[in-house]
This record gives sequence, structure tokens and C-alpha cells, in this order.
Amino acid sequence: MRPDDLLHPTPKGLYCPPGDFYIDPVQPVETALITHGHADHARAGHDTVFATQQTLDIMAIRYGADHCTAPHAVDLRETFSLNGVTVGFYPAGHVLGSAQILVEFDGTRIVASGDYKRRKDPTCEPFEPVACDVFITEATFALPVFRHPNDRAEIDKLIASVRQFPESAHLVGVYALGKAQRVISLIRGAGHNAPIYIHGSLAKLCDYYESQGIDLGVLEPATVANSKKGDFAGAIVLGPPSAFTDKWARRFPDPITCFCSGWMQVRQRAKQRGVELPIILSDHCDWDELLDTILEVAPKEVWVTHGRDDALVRWCTMNNIKARPLHLVGYEDENE
Ligand SMILES: [Zn+2]
Repeated sequence: MRPDDLLHPTPKGLYCPPGDFYIDPVQPVETALITHGHADHARAGHDTVFATQQTLDIMAIRYGADHCTAPHAVDLRETFSLNGVTVGFYPAGHVLGSAQILVEFDGTRIVASGDYKRRKDPTCEPFEPVACDVFITEATFALPVFRHPNDRAEIDKLIASVRQFPESAHLVGVYALGKAQRVISLIRGAGHNAPIYIHGSLAKLCDYYESQGIDLGVLEPATVANSKKGDFAGAIVLGPPSAFTDKWARRFPDPITCFCSGWMQVRQRAKQRGVELPIILSDHCDWDELLDTILEVAPKEVWVTHGRDDALVRWCTMNNIKARPLHLVGYEDENE
């Protein structure tokens, strides 16, 4: 069987004709296999959903328990059959519950990796390479200029700034799923044990991570209404970037705005957002990590879903690995 006949792009997303299911569909479908809980991959409105229990829980937190008709929890590393197609979920190291999806039929193995990263992250299981004929990868940071610096060193910049400006509140922009909890965990690892204040929109997912055994230390609501401005002097306050333009943010004392994202490597982006302290921290691979992963997985062929696909396809071709872009639409560039 040609790999294309086993899995190919459609307007609704990657479709598997023999199995009659989609992977991370962008429109409601009958049967969806979901790699992880970020909103561009996990959408509400499907009938049957196969995902890890943690991804199903995260979808229920975000969309309500009725986000689909029939949820099916899948154990990592266990395969099952869907209309004769063998399916397996393997850790992707991206956020809690994230998985790569293996699809195997008639001797052809394709791995759709979803979003993934290779950095150590105590808030989720590490990526596991899975042998396959076709490896499907994203290419968010697939340019040689993208090299994420050391995570600890980036968080140390924040800790140093907190020490240097004890009268200020540090407002740290983080996306709610994955980034927030990873940043908290890194801050704890750097020895900052004081309470961390969180915007209300982060609370449910932080609670959920805690319920899954990920210790985030003492988290307090960042509510300014009932407290004096000075209460937050020297505090680290986490919130979604969108909240920083609100009245909410203006109430903190001498706020210093920070933002944790892979995009903070692009000085212009930090400037546009008015970020005073950019922290380069991504839940996606940088250029070297993408290449290392492809060499380690050693597929016959690489398909690139979205992002900077040109450079990655060119690199594969130069290294005698067949590659092509899929031009999938509906997936964001680390908007979470
Ligand atoms: Zn993601």
C-alpha cells in the first residue's frame, strides 16, 4: 500500500480511508484521533474521540464533558484495531497527555507526531521515537536561525530580574495549557518557593496538573480587587498574554512584562508586544532538535504538516530522505 492511501490531507484534516478516521481534524467528524489538548488540535463537536485519558480530561475542562458523544481513553504504547488499521499512541513530550499516533496497515507504518519537543520537561512524559516508514512532523521553528537557548538560563533571567527589582510585580505571559505549568515548574526548580500568583484562566488546568501528580508549589489567585497594589511587590504573576492589555494588568505595582515563547527569539516580536523581558521557551523543537529527531526516527519519508516546511523539506532532500509538505491548514504557530 502506498503511504498516501493510508493517510492523506483533506480539508477536514489528515484522513485514513481504510480506518475511516481523522487525526486532529479541524472540523467536526465521526471518528477523531486527537494528539493533544491544544485548541488547534483538539476541537469540540466530534462523535467518537480516541485520545489519552489526560487529553480527554483536558478537552472536558476546556469544552465541557459533552465535547464529544463517545470518548475512548487510549493507553500509551498499547495498540488497538480500528476497522482493521492498527493504531497506537506514544508520548510526544509536548504537554501533559500529548501523544504521537502510529497508524499501521498492510506493512506500512506512519507516525503522526502532532506537536512534540525533545527538551526535558517534568510536566509531561518525554518523546519516544517510534520506528516508521513515514514520519509526519510540524515545522514551527524549522529554520537554522531557530536555536532555543537553555531553559534554566532563560528562567534565571526572570529570577535575577525579580531580585533586582523587588518593588515590581513581574507579569509573565504564558499560554494556559502546558507552558504555564512548565514555567511554574522551572521557577520552582530555580529555587523560588514563594507563592506564584495566577490569572483565573490558568487555575483549572494548573489544578488538573496537580491532580496528575505534578507539584507546582503554592499557587494563589492574582486578584487585585481585594488587595493593595503593594501586596504584589516582588511577586511573580502568571497570566495569558491577552490579559496584559486589560485593566487587570495595570493594577500591579511597577509591572515588568515578560513573555515565555519560542518566538521571543525574534526581537521584533517581543518589541511589537511591548515585552520588556523576553523569555525564550518553547514547547516545540528548534532546528537542531527537528533534524536530530528525523535522524533518530530514520523514516523512509518525511511529511511536513505546517510551519517553515521549505527549509525542512530541502534539508531532508539534501540528506537523501524523501520529503514533502502537506500544507495542512488550521494549525497555529505555537499560539499556545
Ligand atoms: Zn500544541
